[in-house]
Amino acid sequence: MIEIMQKNLLKTQAFVDGEWVDADNGKTFDVYNPATGEKIASCADLSANEAQHAIERSNNAFVKWRKTTAKHRASLLRKWYELVMENQEDLAQILTAEQGKALLESRGEIAYGASYIEWFAEEAKRSYGDVLPTVSDDRRLLTIKQPVGVVSAITPWNFPTAMITRKASPALAAGCTIVIKPAAETPLSALALAELARQAGIPDGVINVITSTNSREVGLELTTNPLVKKVTFTGSTPVGKILLTQAAQTVKKVSMELGGNAPVLVFEDADLEQAANGALFAKFRNCGQTCTCANRIIVHENVYDEFVDIFTAKVKALKQGNGVEDGVEIGPLINEKAVNDVNALMEDACDQGATAIITHQLDDTLKGSFYPPTILTNVSPKARVFSEEIFGPVAPIFKFSSDEEGIALANDTEYGLASYIYTKDYTRIWKVSEELEYGMVGINETSIAADVIPFGGVKESGLGREGSKYGLDDFTEMKYLCMGGM
Ligand code: ADP
Repeated sequence: MIEIMQKNLLKTQAFVDGEWVDADNGKTFDVYNPATGEKIASCADLSANEAQHAIERSNNAFVKWRKTTAKHRASLLRKWYELVMENQEDLAQILTAEQGKALLESRGEIAYGASYIEWFAEEAKRSYGDVLPTVSDDRRLLTIKQPVGVVSAITPWNFPTAMITRKASPALAAGCTIVIKPAAETPLSALALAELARQAGIPDGVINVITSTNSREVGLELTTNPLVKKVTFTGSTPVGKILLTQAAQTVKKVSMELGGNAPVLVFEDADLEQAANGALFAKFRNCGQTCTCANRIIVHENVYDEFVDIFTAKVKALKQGNGVEDGVEIGPLINEKAVNDVNALMEDACDQGATAIITHQLDDTLKGSFYPPTILTNVSPKARVFSEEIFGPVAPIFKFSSDEEGIALANDTEYGLASYIYTKDYTRIWKVSEELEYGMVGINETSIAADVIPFGGVKESGLGREGSKYGLDDFTEMKYLCMGGM
């Protein structure tokens, strides 16, 4: 990890207006490796005043950046993309050190995160206005798209790289500037991205990273400062609601990627091997700490036992450990609080009659915040795991007996982000996909995210879509021009 310092990628100061800065009062906070409990860095702990300053500088930068051509912005984004991919291994090492996910997954996240930069470098050049049919011969009507202005982004620790590139790339492509507050658990990936943006030649003030443990005060500034014109957030639904309320005071544009409670519906006719592989990926990636993670595996009663057997064998084969070690597939949870929260959910399900199959014996030499992969069978829909986001390697398996019941169980939640179904019947695929109250449906597939798709949720899972040909629109305002007197 520390070898990365020589490459100048391990940054611990905040990045404001092209400069690496300490907090004015010199305050810092520590970053720990969740796999070992060791401190890996101390970062500048900025205040709301310093966030305000960054917003002002970002607004100054916006005045020039908005006037650049799309082609120019595209070429800078392209350069940033190339630098991220050239440094993929070092960035993956930083990511695993501060977040814990297996190195293989970190490499995947860097490539996935970079794909958004590449995609929006290309989309930058494809943001068109319209010429509208006129309503009278002396007028011509058209629309143009313009960047909204300074964007503030608040990002989580579970995807410390991809959640930043998914927001910063469309913002920059559209001609906006951005002030990013990464999660205090994982600031190093954000700062490394900022360094690469600097090396790519992205002008001072266009990207700023405010590292801070004062999430409330800094969050308040980022959502209420009148210079900020758009707030984009990925994180929990309760925090999203606070930010929405705050942003409403100055009627800012908002994008919210909030919590999920993804069902995996396994129908009687499903290929159970394929379904078990899909559920395994959807449940255990990032140690279960993904908003699209399978939260409820809901299996038809006629194939329930067989599915549980196949799934259990696959879970047992997963290797848990420090993510930097060869072959490790599941790392630790982000911290001890997460371990306690996941355990409380597991115990509650057992209190309500579920049976726990603890597939792994934790290795005594592991000192970090590890939790053993656990399968829960015969779980009651009254258990908290049915309605709450687990965010850990606990896989509850529920039962259903008819399509109507399966769909009703899947929809019985305030969340609506990702859902997955396993069936070979085309009629069922269409009907169930249409009935599911979710922003995304994986059909015989659980690896569904990509730069080209509109990622996002309905109900209390959020507002707006990230990525895809629609992803730029959230960072632009459409302006109508009426040319008269002809
Ligand atoms: P998670 O469960 O992923 O930690 P959170 O919603 O708590 O989700 O955190 C996501 C991001 O929101 C992090 O950057 C965190 O620091 C920030 N955050 C948490 N609470 C607040 C708040 N009250 N105001 C602004 N930002 C916050």
